[in-house]
Amino acid sequence: MTALYQFSCDCGAVGFECQGAPKVRGFCHCDDCRSFLKVPYHSVDAWEAEKLKVTKGEDQIAVFQHPEKKMKRFFCKNCGETVFNSNAMDWRIVSQLLVRRQNRGAIPDELASKSHFYYGQRIIDIDDELPKRD
Ligand SMILES: [Zn+2]
Ligand SMILES: [Zn+2]
Repeated sequence: MTALYQFSCDCGAVGFECQGAPKVRGFCHCDDCRSFLKVPYHSVDAWEAEKLKVTKGEDQIAVFQHPEKKMKRFFCKNCGETVFNSNAMDWRIVSQLLVRRQNRGAIPDELASKSHFYYGQRIIDIDDELPKRD
Protein backbone atom coordinates (compact mmCIF):
# COMPACT_ATOMS: atom_id res chain seq x y z
CA MET A 1 0.00 0.00 0.00
CA THR A 2 1.22 3.47 -0.84
CA ALA A 3 1.80 5.65 2.18
CA LEU A 4 -0.39 8.72 2.53
CA TYR A 5 0.74 11.62 4.66
CA GLN A 6 -1.79 14.15 5.84
CA PHE A 7 -1.14 17.72 6.83
CA SER A 8 -2.98 20.84 7.83
CA CYS A 9 -2.17 24.45 8.49
CA ASP A 10 -1.99 25.90 11.96
CA CYS A 11 -5.67 26.90 12.11
CA GLY A 12 -6.99 23.83 10.30
CA ALA A 13 -8.64 25.73 7.43
CA VAL A 14 -6.30 24.11 4.88
CA GLY A 15 -5.69 20.38 4.63
CA PHE A 16 -3.61 18.44 2.13
CA GLU A 17 -2.05 15.05 1.66
CA CYS A 18 1.07 13.70 0.00
CA GLN A 19 1.28 10.28 -1.53
CA GLY A 20 4.19 7.88 -1.40
CA ALA A 21 7.82 8.32 -0.47
CA PRO A 22 9.13 11.88 -0.77
CA LYS A 23 11.44 12.61 -3.68
CA VAL A 24 13.86 14.39 -1.37
CA ARG A 25 14.15 14.64 2.38
CA GLY A 26 16.80 16.69 4.03
CA PHE A 27 18.03 20.04 5.22
CA CYS A 28 18.45 22.63 2.50
CA HIS A 29 21.01 25.36 3.10
CA CYS A 30 20.58 27.18 -0.23
CA ASP A 31 20.38 30.95 -0.60
CA ASP A 32 17.03 30.67 -2.39
CA CYS A 33 15.26 28.96 0.50
CA ARG A 34 16.80 31.43 2.91
CA SER A 35 15.77 34.55 1.04
CA PHE A 36 12.33 33.29 0.06
CA LEU A 37 11.31 31.64 3.33
CA LYS A 38 13.30 33.75 5.81
CA VAL A 39 14.82 30.76 7.56
CA PRO A 40 18.52 30.00 8.21
CA TYR A 41 17.99 26.65 6.51
CA HIS A 42 14.95 24.61 5.59
CA SER A 43 14.01 21.11 6.72
CA VAL A 44 12.07 19.58 3.88
CA ASP A 45 10.17 16.67 2.50
CA ALA A 46 9.54 17.20 -1.21
CA TRP A 47 7.08 15.46 -3.51
CA GLU A 48 6.30 15.86 -7.19
CA ALA A 49 3.39 18.23 -7.77
CA GLU A 50 0.98 15.47 -8.76
CA LYS A 51 1.60 13.64 -5.46
CA LEU A 52 0.16 16.47 -3.40
CA LYS A 53 -3.58 16.92 -3.18
CA VAL A 54 -5.38 19.68 -1.33
CA THR A 55 -8.17 18.02 0.63
CA LYS A 56 -9.62 21.00 2.46
CA GLY A 57 -9.86 24.76 2.02
CA GLU A 58 -8.48 25.13 -1.51
CA ASP A 59 -10.07 28.60 -1.59
CA GLN A 60 -8.21 29.48 1.63
CA ILE A 61 -4.83 29.11 -0.05
CA ALA A 62 -3.06 32.19 -1.32
CA VAL A 63 -0.03 31.94 -3.57
CA PHE A 64 2.98 34.20 -3.51
CA GLN A 65 5.10 34.06 -6.63
CA HIS A 66 8.79 34.93 -6.23
CA PRO A 67 9.43 38.12 -8.25
CA GLU A 68 12.30 36.57 -10.26
CA LYS A 69 12.68 32.88 -9.55
CA LYS A 70 10.42 29.97 -10.28
CA MET A 71 9.41 29.58 -6.67
CA LYS A 72 6.03 29.93 -5.03
CA ARG A 73 4.82 30.00 -1.48
CA PHE A 74 1.37 28.63 -0.75
CA PHE A 75 -0.04 29.92 2.48
CA CYS A 76 -3.28 29.91 4.45
CA LYS A 77 -5.17 33.19 4.17
CA ASN A 78 -6.61 32.69 7.63
CA CYS A 79 -3.58 31.86 9.81
CA GLY A 80 -0.81 32.97 7.44
CA GLU A 81 1.17 29.75 7.73
CA THR A 82 3.06 28.56 4.65
CA VAL A 83 1.64 25.11 4.01
CA PHE A 84 4.12 24.24 1.27
CA ASN A 85 6.26 25.93 -1.34
CA SER A 86 7.40 25.00 -4.81
CA ASN A 87 10.78 25.17 -6.52
CA ALA A 88 12.08 25.45 -10.08
CA MET A 89 11.32 21.75 -10.67
CA ASP A 90 7.76 22.45 -9.50
CA TRP A 91 8.16 20.04 -6.59
CA ARG A 92 5.95 20.60 -3.56
CA ILE A 93 8.10 21.22 -0.55
CA VAL A 94 6.67 20.63 2.90
CA SER A 95 8.45 21.85 6.01
CA GLN A 96 9.24 19.12 8.50
CA LEU A 97 7.72 21.39 11.13
CA LEU A 98 4.35 20.45 9.65
CA VAL A 99 5.39 16.80 9.67
CA ARG A 100 6.26 17.03 13.36
CA ARG A 101 3.03 18.72 14.28
CA GLN A 102 1.09 16.07 12.45
CA ASN A 103 2.87 13.31 14.34
CA ARG A 104 2.78 14.68 17.89
CA GLY A 105 6.26 16.17 17.75
CA ALA A 106 8.02 13.23 16.10
CA ILE A 107 9.20 12.78 12.53
CA PRO A 108 8.52 9.31 11.16
CA ASP A 109 11.71 7.53 10.01
CA GLU A 110 10.59 7.45 6.39
CA LEU A 111 10.25 11.26 6.36
CA ALA A 112 13.35 12.10 8.40
CA SER A 113 16.20 14.00 6.78
CA LYS A 114 18.93 11.91 5.19
CA SER A 115 21.41 14.65 4.35
CA HIS A 116 22.25 18.33 4.24
CA PHE A 117 22.33 19.82 0.76
CA TYR A 118 23.71 23.06 -0.64
CA TYR A 119 25.85 22.91 2.48
CA GLY A 120 28.44 25.14 0.81
CA GLN A 121 25.94 28.01 0.98
CA ARG A 122 25.24 27.56 4.69
CA ILE A 123 25.25 30.32 7.26
CA ILE A 124 25.14 27.89 10.19
CA ASP A 125 27.49 24.95 10.78
CA ILE A 126 25.77 21.70 11.64
CA ASP A 127 27.41 19.14 13.88
CA ASP A 128 25.60 15.91 13.16
CA GLU A 129 26.20 12.56 11.50
CA LEU A 130 24.32 13.20 8.28
CA PRO A 131 26.20 13.53 4.97
CA LYS A 132 26.78 17.09 3.81
CA ARG A 133 26.73 17.92 0.12
CA ASP A 134 27.34 21.11 -1.81
ZN1 LIG B 1 -4.68 28.21 8.47
ZN1 LIG C 1 16.94 25.37 -0.69
